[in-house]
Amino acid sequence: MNMFTKEELQSCTRCPLSQSRTHALAGEGNMNADMMLIAQAPGELEDKKNRMFIGPSGNILHALLEEANINEDDLYMTNLIKCVLPKNRRPKQSEIKACSMYLDMEIEEIAPKILVPLGYYATKYIFEKYSLHQFARSEFTELIGKLFVADNMQIFPLSHPALLLYRKEFYKNSVVNFNNLRKIIAKK
Ligand code: SF4
Repeated sequence: MNMFTKEELQSCTRCPLSQSRTHALAGEGNMNADMMLIAQAPGELEDKKNRMFIGPSGNILHALLEEANINEDDLYMTNLIKCVLPKNRRPKQSEIKACSMYLDMEIEEIAPKILVPLGYYATKYIFEKYSLHQFARSEFTELIGKLFVADNMQIFPLSHPALLLYRKEFYKNSVVNFNNLRKIIAKK
């Protein structure tokens, strides 16, 4: 499978989100990265400016990475869904099905050793892809900050930074989890 180009992604009409987006955003970062972060979808600002992780939840992600001394130059960061979700609604299963081939291509091209899905939907997709156990939405919190191994890949689910915008009590715990992530990277 070959990696898609930004132009190919920008002209994608595989799902109705193509009608409401301004830009379809590919991942950004180090193409030789050992670790890939997978968020849910671009936010409104990212959609307008055609830049990844520049909105409020992106700012939280940058702060957590900095606090844990994880160098962003060593990462590849992307989204499960490449187009903005209107009013930040939840993604539909049909949209995940239509768009996940792009994430699959990114994983195949970059071949990271550690996948870090952020939030329920990205984690659910990665667990399905690597035939890990299925879980209900209410069970997702039990997976956060735990390490799973499948196909020689380490999978470390974390909370989506957007959650921390309105649940600030989870921030401390996220700092601990990002510090643990740094230790996992150091063992690689
Ligand atoms: S969300 Fe994905 S599948 Fe849907 S139009 Fe955007 S790039 Fe294409």
